[in-house]
Amino acid sequence: MDPKKFRKAAHRLVDWMADYLEDPGEYPVLPDVEPGEVRAQIDDEAPGQGEDFEAIFSDFENLVVPGMTHWNHPGFFAYFPANHSPPSVLAEMLTATLGAQCMSWETSPAATELEEAMMEWLADLIDLPRGFTGVIQDTASSATLVSLLTAREAAADGEVGRKGMAKGGRDWVIYTSTEAHSSVDKAVKLAGFGLENLRKVGVDEDFAMCPDGLAEAVVADREAGKVPLAVVATVGTTSSTAVDPLREIGAVAEREDLWLHVDAAYAGSAAILPEKRWIFDGIEYADTMVFNPHKWLLTNFDCSAYFTKDVDALISTFQASPEYLKTRHDREVSNFRDWGIPLGRRFRALKLWFVLRSYGADGLRAILRRHIELARWFRGAVDDHPDFEILAPSPFGLVCFRYTPEGVGEAELDEMNQEVLSRLRDEKSLHLTHTRLGEKFCLRMSIGQWQTEGHHVERAWEIITGVVEELRR
Ligand code: PLP
Repeated sequence: MDPKKFRKAAHRLVDWMADYLEDPGEYPVLPDVEPGEVRAQIDDEAPGQGEDFEAIFSDFENLVVPGMTHWNHPGFFAYFPANHSPPSVLAEMLTATLGAQCMSWETSPAATELEEAMMEWLADLIDLPRGFTGVIQDTASSATLVSLLTAREAAADGEVGRKGMAKGGRDWVIYTSTEAHSSVDKAVKLAGFGLENLRKVGVDEDFAMCPDGLAEAVVADREAGKVPLAVVATVGTTSSTAVDPLREIGAVAEREDLWLHVDAAYAGSAAILPEKRWIFDGIEYADTMVFNPHKWLLTNFDCSAYFTKDVDALISTFQASPEYLKTRHDREVSNFRDWGIPLGRRFRALKLWFVLRSYGADGLRAILRRHIELARWFRGAVDDHPDFEILAPSPFGLVCFRYTPEGVGEAELDEMNQEVLSRLRDEKSLHLTHTRLGEKFCLRMSIGQWQTEGHHVERAWEIITGVVEELRR
């Protein structure tokens, strides 16, 4: 494709993109496809001869788009949001156009220095105490793995890196709560600690980690000859957005000399709101923390903001400096290839810069407040309905609830709510997912798309109550 053809195709694409962003709600939020249906329409082999852009784009429209779940549909209430925004999309276009691989300062000085500046802006926006330095990781899952690997190497003075776990390791134990995200399990497995050495500390009635339970587990492990190493606390758990009490957990971590990592993947963005800063009360105890602008700060996936207090420990865990990567400026600059797992890095700071400048802190705060207010409204509607029950506090944009008609037993309630969810799946204009809180099957209404307004949430409630009426009949 020569630049002339590219220009023409790009104009066409931008028109399509603008139409899409104007109203993704025009599409069914979930695709109506069976497993294998899309694959069956894709040729078995790559074409021998190049094809016209028109043919490719036509297949994109007719084959790909109908097979997509529209994450930025205003009726997308599933999981947590992966919200984006027009300025973020524009920056991604430029990132793709520049096509830079930003592993070292020298491979694109502007990318490194913009990333440094954006991490400082973010730290400031969420009011992180001084002493943390930031770097962009691809996901919160990677960030948690990076944190635990760093904790391991710091505790072993690099021995595991040199000799392997069998010779350099100890009988380490990691702590988190029963409500922590599965990425903690994954990181414990991958870092070589072994899932048997992951303690899931119990939670209180609001699903937040019990610091006393943590303290007791640490004592029991020490008595058994184990070596407590690290605790992963969550600010905004995946199932219900519970906030682990960082101050109390931090005090235990300090007393017991534990590494503390805070996973604030979804809820961390809320700390741009002064009224939500309480979520990070005690964050000064943390060694590392992560939150995802790619969840709730209008920035395209992928973009996880990872902060550490000990950059030297991070770098000594991940640094690899073969001759072919050495540059003239290595002593004076940050080479982010040494701040995480992959060597190659995308230019992700650009989209943050575009988003933060386009909306400004106040604009972003207004959007997050709108989501929180819509969740408050939805929660009120559920609460006022005699046949529904709220199952957890809603400090952010998530409401956990279930259908509880009178005279129905627990086992049947589970089945009934699964049926509600299954019928909601047939709706084209909304998408909810579920979880279990305690033993209870629970519906999750997660509000966080940049275009979701009151009428979308009201309509969702109408549909949910309509489905329930249908079930009753
Ligand atoms: N941690 C928490 C609390 C989450 O809710 C999630 C995803 O929803 C993750 C980690 C994983 O995020 P990522 O997809 O960035 O790895």
